Amino acid sequence: MKVALIGVGQAGGNVTERLARFDANMGFEAVQGALAVNTAEADLQSLQFVDTQLIGADRVNGHGVGADNELGTDVMQSDVQQVLDDLDGRVTSRAEAIVVVAGLGGGTGSGGAPVLVHHLQQIHDIPIYALGILPGRNEGAIYQANAGRSLKTLLREADSTLLIDNDAWHEQGESIESAFETINERIAKRVGLLFAAGEGVDDAAAASVVDASEVINTLRAGGVAALGYASAVASEDSSENITNTMSVARQALLTGTSLPDATTADSALLVIAGQPDAIPRKGVERARRWLEDETGSMQVRGGDFPMDSDRLGALVLLGGAERSDRIEAFMERAREAKDAQEAEATDHAEEFADDRLENLF
Ligand code: GDP
Repeated sequence: MKVALIGVGQAGGNVTERLARFDANMGFEAVQGALAVNTAEADLQSLQFVDTQLIGADRVNGHGVGADNELGTDVMQSDVQQVLDDLDGRVTSRAEAIVVVAGLGGGTGSGGAPVLVHHLQQIHDIPIYALGILPGRNEGAIYQANAGRSLKTLLREADSTLLIDNDAWHEQGESIESAFETINERIAKRVGLLFAAGEGVDDAAAASVVDASEVINTLRAGGVAALGYASAVASEDSSENITNTMSVARQALLTGTSLPDATTADSALLVIAGQPDAIPRKGVERARRWLEDETGSMQVRGGDFPMDSDRLGALVLLGGAERSDRIEAFMERAREAKDAQEAEATDHAEEFADDRLENLF
C-alpha cells in the first residue's frame, strides 16, 4: 500500500521518521512522502528523513503547546491550510492512503491530528487513516484524559485508527527513553512491513501474494485497528513449517499485538512473510481458519509476503477491534482522569468559598 505520512507532534514526528527510514533502507518504496508538523521547533530539528513544518509560531513562538491539546486543536485549525499546501505534491497520484501519525496523550498531536484528518477527508478520495499512540498506564492523568478525547474524535474522523499502546511493544523495566526507541523501531518494522505488503512484487508472482487492496478492505471495518507480529526461524522441513506458521500466527495475535488483549474484530488480515518455498499453503490456510475462530470474524483474508529471510513472520491486522477489554479499560482510565481534573478545579474554588471574606466586586 503506497502511503503518504504526516506526523503531528513529537511522537508523531519520531515515528514518521522511523517509518520513512525503514522503508528507504529496505528499498520498499511504499512511503511516497513524509512530513512532520509540530509547534515545537526543537523537536523538528532532529528529523532527517522527513520534511518538516513548524505551525503556530505566531501563538507559541516555536516552543510547543505543552500538554494543552485544546491549544493543539486551535493551532491546527488556524494553520491547517499551510499544512495542506505543503502536502501538495507529496501526496502523489500513486498514494493509496494517507496516514496521520500522533501520540494521543500530548498536546500538538493529540489536538492537531483529528483536525488534520478532518480536513484531509474533505479534499482526498483515498482513505485517511490515523496511527495513534496510547499513553502507557503509568503516564499521568492529563495524558490519559487527552488521549481519551483525541481518540474519540479520531474515531469520528478517520477511516480507521490503528492503535499502538505504549505498554505493548517493549520490555518491562526499560527507561522511558529506551522504551520509546524500542517501540518506535518496532512500529517502523511492523507497520512498515504492512505498508510494503504487495509492493515491489511483480504481478506474475503467485496469486497468494497479499496486495494493498486487502489491507484497505480489512481496514474498511473502520473504528479501531490493531496490528500483531511474531516471527521464528524457518525450518528446512516443510511439515515443520506448517507448525511454525500456526505458532507465529498465534503469537502475533495473542502476545504480539499493538493493543494487548484485542482479539475480537470485524475483519482481519494474516500476512505470512518469508522465503516463498518456506511458506506452506496448508499452514497459511490452517492459521487463517484459526484466526476466524479466534476473532469471531467471517472476513479473514490471508496472503504471503515473499522476502529474502531465513525466518517466517506473521503479521495480523485487525479491523473493527474496539470491543476489546483494553479499549474499555483505557476509556475508563481517561474518563476517571477527566473527572479528577474537573474535581480538582472545583476544589480550588471551594477553598475560597467561606463567605466571611467578601469578593472585591
Ligand atoms: P506533542 O508533541 O505535544 O504532540 O506530544 P507528544 O508527542 O510528546 O505526546 C505525548 C505522548 O506521546 C505521551 O503519551 C508519550 O509517552 C508519547 N511519546 C512521546 N514521544 C514518543 C516517542 O518517540 N515514541 C512513542 N512510542 N511515544 C512517544
